Amino acid sequence: MNAVTNIQKYSIHDGDGIRTTVFFKGCPLRCWWCHNPETQKFESELQIDTPKCTGCGRCEAVCPTGAITMSEPAEGGRKSLIDRSKCIRCGKCVDACLGNYRVLVGREYTVEELAKICMQDQMFYEQSGGGVTLSGGEVMAMDSGYIKSLVKTLYREGVDVDIDTCGQAPYSNFEAILPYVHTWLYDIKAIDEDKHKKYIGVSNRLILDNLKKIAKAGARIYIRIPTIKEVNGDPESMAQIIDFLKENGIQTPQVNLLPYHSTGSHKYGKLGRDYPAEDLTAPSDEEMESFVKQWNKAGFANVKIGG
Ligand code: SF4
Ligand code: SF4
Repeated sequence: MNAVTNIQKYSIHDGDGIRTTVFFKGCPLRCWWCHNPETQKFESELQIDTPKCTGCGRCEAVCPTGAITMSEPAEGGRKSLIDRSKCIRCGKCVDACLGNYRVLVGREYTVEELAKICMQDQMFYEQSGGGVTLSGGEVMAMDSGYIKSLVKTLYREGVDVDIDTCGQAPYSNFEAILPYVHTWLYDIKAIDEDKHKKYIGVSNRLILDNLKKIAKAGARIYIRIPTIKEVNGDPESMAQIIDFLKENGIQTPQVNLLPYHSTGSHKYGKLGRDYPAEDLTAPSDEEMESFVKQWNKAGFANVKIGG
């Protein structure tokens, strides 16, 4: 399945110029701070805005599996409750909810459909030096043939395609699209493997190996570092990332330090999950500035906060 959760037009993030960013659904990582939790699972998912539910019961009436029950009236009114283990994601309750408080996240497009949507703003890409960014979730964990076909189609139409990746996918997936990708937006979260396993859920071996390989193959790479005090927001952790890049001869025309924020935390409840990053914190503005100086001093001239 190559489902998409969102197609964001006129974006000035995730690459240069004005962009269309396509968010694919499904990711092999589980970063504690993920602000797009709806992109983590590969399958479609029901997102419910329970506080807004008016308790009309229309969803309960149409659910074919008995996954929905109604709560007793309490403070805040009667609410629709769900047993997600019984939900088959048929979408009937979504159609029944007059207030649009239920959304089935994850829509599939053919390559032609998606390319057509991306091409609608080609004029803006040309004027601004922008293009299309394929993001997620993890775009490199989607079906490799599908992604190759999409990237090639856009490339042949003259659209610059950037790939925003966490790096956790077979190298063959990277190799297949290397010639058609303008810039790789490549995340590094931690060089310390134990820390990586704790906060991201997997070893960083494959991620770092893939980075070395695409760099060796001549890829243009922007390094992106979600910066979180408890994970990598200290001078020693930054030095480890800098050393890794230098030791492996990895050139990067841009480094983006992305300070932690919790703006996606409200989405977890809608998906029936707890937010795992309650205790994580962002470095102060002064600390972020000091990291920029640390990178500059190490020879990386173009280091941005945000991006
Ligand atoms: S998506 Fe279908 S199975 Fe799931 S709660 Fe809604 S109606 Fe029931
Ligand atoms: S249909 Fe919508 S408003 Fe009515 S009970 Fe279900 S979720 Fe609440």
